[in-house]
Amino acid sequence: MRVAIIGSGPAGFYAAEALLKRADAVVDVDMFDRLPTPYGLVRGGVAPDHLKIKTVIRVFATTAARPTFRFLGNVRLGRDVTVEELRRHYHQIVYATGNEADRRLGIPGEGIARCTPATVFVGWYNGHPDYRLAQIDLSVRRVAVVGNGNVAVDAARILLRTSAELEKTDIAAHALEALRNSQVREVFILGRRGPEQASFTPAELKELGKMEAADPVIAPGELAGCVGWESTGNADKDKNLKILRSFAAQQPRAKAKKLHLRFLVSPTEVIADAAGNVAGLALEKNRLEARPDGTVAARGTGEIEVLEVGMVLPAIGYAAERIAGVPYDEKARVIANEDGRVVDPASRAVIANEYVVGWARTGPQGLIGEHKRASAHVVGHMIADGAELATRALPDRDAIVSLLRERGLQVVSFNDWKQLDDVEVVRGARRGAPRDKIVDVEAMLAVLAQR
Ligand code: NAP
Repeated sequence: MRVAIIGSGPAGFYAAEALLKRADAVVDVDMFDRLPTPYGLVRGGVAPDHLKIKTVIRVFATTAARPTFRFLGNVRLGRDVTVEELRRHYHQIVYATGNEADRRLGIPGEGIARCTPATVFVGWYNGHPDYRLAQIDLSVRRVAVVGNGNVAVDAARILLRTSAELEKTDIAAHALEALRNSQVREVFILGRRGPEQASFTPAELKELGKMEAADPVIAPGELAGCVGWESTGNADKDKNLKILRSFAAQQPRAKAKKLHLRFLVSPTEVIADAAGNVAGLALEKNRLEARPDGTVAARGTGEIEVLEVGMVLPAIGYAAERIAGVPYDEKARVIANEDGRVVDPASRAVIANEYVVGWARTGPQGLIGEHKRASAHVVGHMIADGAELATRALPDRDAIVSLLRERGLQVVSFNDWKQLDDVEVVRGARRGAPRDKIVDVEAMLAVLAQR
């Protein structure tokens, strides 16, 4: 069988690995990416100071080294090649395009200067080519990060780390420079529900207590009135509560920057100053309300306060982008699917030989490693559905590359990427970092053209 995987992030690579390791199938895998660089979220999303998480790329590189695997970077589905064309050249297609859009608060003032979605801020500090020119103004002293997930925690931590802490990471050079000159002294992480409903994971929460020059602060009343306070019945949530209690009991160092953790507040308006920049965030106090289905919702009390901040970073979750020709579920904001088989969003009828893995399938849930089993599960469907398929004659395997080259595209192979990788590693060594990323697609292609 010949399979096209669209997207080279973790879910795509885990699907490739599962396909290529099958003892009951002979599979050629072509993995496409719109960027010349592989690894998706690991390169563009995982925080730069989380170097250990990034070591998973060694596993992906092993998959890429298999003789029947090819990487076709710098090729965008829907622009450079159509779904129809892929259907002609492959027996099956797997969409592993992740979540590149962000969810919006939907409140007045959300679009003003210095109110920046986490997708942009994260992409900027990670050197994602789409966001390298984002306007991130760190001349402000106070920042609000909205959301109680790990992305909020990442954003707050990166804002509060010292240059010495950041230098040895693979943070983009432009972000390191801007953060060196940052005036930010206080960050507020704002949860709309209580501490036990927060979705950050204990390891990430704990890290907030270990920053070189910043301390977590929890005001005395903040943890009061939580239902099920002693034990939630969930081990991770209990660990979170324990960590939060320890933060609350701790006296922050006098000169440390402050990371305030606030709960039970929902932003209602981003307030602008005369120049149109963020001057504050109006917050409504919430109370918790148990629903009949057992979940706990935040309900506004009508009590409003204004938090004076110069920047707002909503980190309230991601969503899949629409891709021309690929069925989209408007409600769930993922590629329409039933258990990883792509379906027509209206009739729910299966679209044969098309599959989806990772966040494009489930929405933004689960840590990277958890998608290994999920991708293998979808590959199980592919093998079950594909028994007869391999008899369908396809054009020569190189015909797709010829087609793309005829269109003037510079297709980037995995060996090309390895050359870029070498350049980045050498550049990074100058500041004692694992790499200094090339953040501009044109510059990447220029490096390759010189070799
Ligand atoms: P997330 O865990 O779903 O958190 C989103 C947060 O936004 C929740 O606290 C949610 O509150 C809140 N929220 C949603 N809509 C809101 C609104 N209108 N107003 C106020 N708050 C709102 O998502 P994420 O942080 O984007 O993370 C995505 C996934 O990546 C997660 O699985 C996460 O664990 C993973 N991740 C892992 C790491 C790591 O280091 N291990 C780092 C980054 C991300 P409610 O709960 O009330 O809806």
